[in-house]
Amino acid sequence: MNNFEFSRATDVADAVRQITTEPGAAFIAGGTNLIDLIKEGVTKPSRLVDITRLGLDRIEDTSDGGLRIGALVPNSDLAYHPEIAKRYPLLASAILAGASPQLRNMASTGGNLLQRTRCFYFYDTTTPCNKREPGSGCSAIDGLNRMYAILGASEHCIATHPSDMCVALAALEARVLAAGRNGERSIAFADFHRLPGDTPQIDTNLSKDEIITALELPPDGFAKNYSYLKIRDRLSYAFALVSVAVGLEIENGMIRQARLVLGGVAHKPWRDREAEAQLSGAPAARESFIRAAETLLNDARGFGHNDFKIELARRAIVRALSQAASGTPQSQIDKRVR
Ligand SMILES: Cc1cc2nc3c(=O)[nH]c(=O)nc-3n(C[C@H](O)[C@H](O)[C@H](O)COP(=O)(O)OP(=O)(O)OC[C@H]3O[C@@H](n4cnc5c(N)ncnc54)[C@H](O)[C@@H]3O)c2cc1C
Ligand code: SF4
Repeated sequence: MNNFEFSRATDVADAVRQITTEPGAAFIAGGTNLIDLIKEGVTKPSRLVDITRLGLDRIEDTSDGGLRIGALVPNSDLAYHPEIAKRYPLLASAILAGASPQLRNMASTGGNLLQRTRCFYFYDTTTPCNKREPGSGCSAIDGLNRMYAILGASEHCIATHPSDMCVALAALEARVLAAGRNGERSIAFADFHRLPGDTPQIDTNLSKDEIITALELPPDGFAKNYSYLKIRDRLSYAFALVSVAVGLEIENGMIRQARLVLGGVAHKPWRDREAEAQLSGAPAARESFIRAAETLLNDARGFGHNDFKIELARRAIVRALSQAASGTPQSQIDKRVR
C-alpha cells in the first residue's frame, strides 16, 4: 500500500501552487487511468490534487468562430454536445469509438490527452521498461509487440499513444491551453505529444507545474467530408490497432484541403504533411488515396509481431479517405469513388 495525501484545488492558481510546491503530487480528474497506474504500482504520487471542482466544464464559442472546451468536460458530454455533433462530427466519432459509456462518463478532456500508453510491460513492474524506469531497457522490442508502433519509434521505446480523441484533435488542429508558474500558454496540438527518442519517460511537452485548462478548436470542422475509422480486435472496449482520422474539403471532385492523421501506430497521433500536400489538388479518387498511403507509410517499420500493421494501415487509410470523400463516414464505400 502506497500512502498518499489528498487535497482539493480551489481554483487554477491554487492547483498550480499545490503541484509546484510538492514535486511528487499529481492532478486527478476522472481517475480512469491514474487510479489503475497507482494500483499497479507504476506511479506512486505523494499527493493527489483533485481538480474536478475548478469549473473548467464548459463548452463556449470563441471570438474567431471556433469552440473552447474546458479541460474537465467529460468525454461523453463532449461527444454528444450539439455543436460538436453538428460542426465537429470527426471529434464526436473518435470519442465514441473509445472505451465504454461508463468510462467516457468519467473521463475528462484533459485526462484523455495525458493518458499513458497501454504497453503491457509498462504496467508489469516486474519487467524492464524505459518509460517506467529510464535506463532499464525495453521489454517490447524483442517481446510480444503486436500492438506496438510502426512509425517514429526509437531503440528505447516502441509504445503507442492509446487515445482516439487525440487523433481527431490533431486532424482538426486543436490547441491546448495550459496554465503554470510562468502564466498561460497555448500549444499547437502537433507539438503537445512527443516521440520517444532517448527520453521515453516524457510523453508530452507539458511542464510538471502546468495544468491543462481548455482546448480550442478552429472554426473549420470538416463536417461534410470526414471519417474516423478504428480497426481493433473487437468492436468495442478495445484500443486501436490502427485508426485513421480524415477531414477533406472537396470541390468539383477535386481535393482542396486534406487532413490525415493515424492513431495506434506511434508514440503520438501521426500526421504526415507530405501525404496531405499530395492529396491537396488531386482528384478525390482511389489512386490519390493509395499514393497518399504509400507516402505516409514510406518509413514504416515493424518489430515482428506487428509487421501486419503496415498493410493494415495502408488499407485503413485508403478506406477512410474513400469514406470521407463519399460523405459516408461510417458506412459502405460509395462505388462512385474509385
Ligand atoms: C478499460 C479502459 C479502456 C479504455 N479504452 C479507451 C479507448 O479505446 N480509447 C481511448 O481513447 N481511451 C480509452 N481509455 C482511456 C480513457 O479515455 C482515459 O483513461 C481517460 O480519458 C483519462 O481521463 P481521466 O479524466 O480519467 O484522467 P485521470 O486518470 O484522472 O488522469 C490521467 C492523467 O492526466 C493528468 N491530468 C488529468 N487532468 C489534467 C489536467 N487538466 N491538467 C494536467 N494534468 C491532468 C493526471 O495527473 C494523470 O496523470 C480506456 C480506459 C480504460 C480504463
Ligand atoms: S515499448 Fe516503451 S513502454 Fe513498452 S516496455 Fe518498451 S520502453 Fe516500456
